Amino acid sequence: MNDSTAAYKSRFTSTMMGNWSAPLTTLVRGEGCQVWDADGKRYLDFLGGIAVNALGHAHPVLVEAVSRQVATIAHVSNYFATPPQVELAERLLRLTGAGDSGRVYFANSGTEANEAAVKLARRNGQHKKIIALNNSFHGRTMGALALTGKTALREPFEPLVPNVVHIDSTIEALEAAIGDDVSAIVIEPIKGEAGVIDLPAGFLKRARELTTEFGALLILDEIQTGAGRTGVWFAYQREGIVPDAITLAKGMGGGIPVGALVTFGAASGLFTPGQHGTTFGGNPLATAAANAVLGEIEASGLVENAALRGAQLRAAITAIGSPLVAELRGEGLLIGVGLTAPVAAAVTARALELGLIVNAPNESSIRLAPPLIIGDSEIAEFITLFTQALEASA
Ligand SMILES: *Cc1c(COP(=O)(O)O)cnc(C)c1O
Repeated sequence: MNDSTAAYKSRFTSTMMGNWSAPLTTLVRGEGCQVWDADGKRYLDFLGGIAVNALGHAHPVLVEAVSRQVATIAHVSNYFATPPQVELAERLLRLTGAGDSGRVYFANSGTEANEAAVKLARRNGQHKKIIALNNSFHGRTMGALALTGKTALREPFEPLVPNVVHIDSTIEALEAAIGDDVSAIVIEPIKGEAGVIDLPAGFLKRARELTTEFGALLILDEIQTGAGRTGVWFAYQREGIVPDAITLAKGMGGGIPVGALVTFGAASGLFTPGQHGTTFGGNPLATAAANAVLGEIEASGLVENAALRGAQLRAAITAIGSPLVAELRGEGLLIGVGLTAPVAAAVTARALELGLIVNAPNESSIRLAPPLIIGDSEIAEFITLFTQALEASA
């Protein structure tokens, strides 16, 4: 039943739950950094499924790994270990530097990784507070939603998980909020959903010092920033600190749903058998996919490419000289284009017409999170299309 994009749109709205807005279009196929819709129109994908498609679309390494695994053994339950699961845990402990004293819990999504983190925080002081940041995003399930620093998302679903306190992202607010009554601080190293907003200089370092002093866990939500996206494997590595735990998802599976909580040192001993679990988490299909993605990122130097292409993109966007561009935020290939006027929706709509996918996390920000494989030709095409999209709104 291959229909037109218009027909799919109407079938979508007749069947999908009312939480979703109408889809932008219907995509049927992808290859590298390009996707095609049901009418045969081609797009350059500079959103990458929101920082998920690290290897782009239909990457042969991922296709081969997933095909081989599903034809071998796809699921077994957590009564059993599987080789891809153990291999992925070892790989994450190596790449994060958590090493022999670190441990990994596998989940199926970002929000589930954060649910595990909330339970980890409770194990570090059951009746203590968890501190999270205003304007942060941590997911849609009740624990992760309780952490999320956007009242508009939280309020319709209150009461949420209690004992979560939100503070501004300033060192002064951190110092005022920390105490013996805090079990954990949860931080996005760069606030992706808020519009790719960087933390103030020295914030993570100070959070590390204060959490250590007061026996609280420093938990970093690297669901969007992790797996090479920002030009280092994990954003905390740029700050020269070691957290107690990080959560991962998005880019780590390259499009196959997978998430993880990785703990460092003493935090690795907080859960005891039976305290947390999941049916699908860590299944051989998802972990084989993540091994293939992370292995390819390593083998092809895509962390370095993210740093290099990120710098190249920033320079090229600046060189457009558009009066609409106020500032560039983020690191590597997670880029927030801050606009001088609240026209982000118009810019992304025009871009889509022109055959370019980017997104507007808020009315004055454009987010770019292209596949980590982009090169000169993708950047050149992006600049041509983005220049036209900006001109239409200037
Ligand atoms: C996307 C995201 C989540 C939620 O992940 P899901 O897989 O959508 O549940 C949580 N935290 C951050 C920082 C994210 O970007």
